[in-house]
Amino acid sequence: MTDRYAVFGNPIGHSKSPRIHALFAAQTGQDISYQAILAERDGFAAAVNAFIDAGEGLARGANVTVPFKEEAFRLATRRTARAEAAGAVNTLSFEAGAIVGDNTDGAGLVRDLKNNLGCDPAGRRILLLGAGGAARGVILPLLLEGPTELVIANRTEETAARLALEFANSFARLPGCAVGVKPDGMGFQGLAGRQFDLVINATSAGLSGDTLSLPACVFGPRCVAYEMVYGRETAFMAQAREARARVADGLGMLVEQAAEAFFIWRGVRPHTAPVLAALAKVS
Ligand code: NDP
Repeated sequence: MTDRYAVFGNPIGHSKSPRIHALFAAQTGQDISYQAILAERDGFAAAVNAFIDAGEGLARGANVTVPFKEEAFRLATRRTARAEAAGAVNTLSFEAGAIVGDNTDGAGLVRDLKNNLGCDPAGRRILLLGAGGAARGVILPLLLEGPTELVIANRTEETAARLALEFANSFARLPGCAVGVKPDGMGFQGLAGRQFDLVINATSAGLSGDTLSLPACVFGPRCVAYEMVYGRETAFMAQAREARARVADGLGMLVEQAAEAFFIWRGVRPHTAPVLAALAKVS
């Protein structure tokens, strides 16, 4: 019997996840089905339970995207440390009597940086822009890589300060999460005169076409500028190019977080390069 998987979101029509997982399954010879499911905004848990109960073959897991990652966190009966740190779940595994929640976004970002872009966060001064769900999900995985500095800067300064404090005080004490650097939180104006080796845009400004009020100095020499949004040239990417940074978009993160989920579910790690190449051709 074919094992069943799905991605839940609203909207979900443009999700690339079914294509990515179909390519992973073909490459690794895994017998799975993977569908995109549009859940009503107030019907996420019901949609997941209906998926578990329905159809031929066992429902083994699901991905979760906007706006349900926090609800998936609450739905999980058990959560990994990185899901706890993220406060959000993007990967569910259905086990006997349990729903295990994980978050693979941070691991996806780190793998894209290290394996696809040759940009190891270790020893780098990192600037993380944004303090929403995406930023929160990548803080611990980035800290675990051993940067020399991690600054979180956000339009709303208090949110960045609160997030930095939360990680400094609490999550750094999770088992296995010994980190050497305490994150610092500030507004964009606090970045004047500061320089970084890796600047990650985890704001959604790129979706609305807005420009971030960043001083050009943040893009230090040989800086890598990473835009989590993919499939379009954003104002942040243009700002970074202007400052001679090397620019990447978030397509690699998307594919790598999916590969991490596939590994959790199937115990086999797919090669991401051919999948990334196939997607880049059409995006
Ligand atoms: P949230 O809504 O949780 O957070 C949005 C963040 O962006 C906040 O920090 C907000 O600041 C900031 N922001 C929004 N508009 C502006 C603006 N005009 N100027 C400055 N700051 C702004 O979103 P998420 O964290 O969930 O997602 C952020 C982005 O990351 C999205 O674009 C999403 O597509 C992308 N993403 C990509 C992934 C991938 O695999 N490539 C995975 C996950 C997310 P404030 O607090 O001041 O409101």
